[in-house]
Amino acid sequence: MDPEKRKQKLREMFQRVVDPLGYKFSPDEEIVDFLLEQEVMLEQKHGHPFCPCQGLTGEREHDMKIVCPCIPFHRAHFDAMKRCWCGLYVHKNVDDPNSLAQISVSEFRDMQKEGKT
Ligand code: SF4
Repeated sequence: MDPEKRKQKLREMFQRVVDPLGYKFSPDEEIVDFLLEQEVMLEQKHGHPFCPCQGLTGEREHDMKIVCPCIPFHRAHFDAMKRCWCGLYVHKNVDDPNSLAQISVSEFRDMQKEGKT
C-alpha cells in the first residue's frame, strides 16, 4: 500500500483505539505526521507498526507490547505524563503538548514508591 494511504489508515484505526482510553492525537501535527511515517516504515520492515521511540528486543512478549498504540500496557506511566512515551498521543484535555514532561520508567517507579501517583 502507498505509504501516505497507509499512514492515513493507521491514523483512523488508532483514533478508534485511543479515544475510549481518554487519549487523542497530539495537536502537534508535525510530530504526529513524522511518527506515523516511522510506524509505516517499521510495519513494512517488521510486519507491525512498532513504536518508533522504543527499541525492539527480538523477544516477542516484549515487542508485542510496543505495537502502537501501546497505551494499555503502560497506562499508569503514560497517565502520569498525560502523554505516551513518543508524544504521539496526549490526554484529551491537553492543548499544549510542549508543557508535558517526559518521565523515565525509573523516575515513574520512584514516584509510585513515594505515593506521588
Ligand atoms: S509510545 Fe506512543 S507512539 Fe510509541 S507505541 Fe506507544 S502509543 Fe505508540
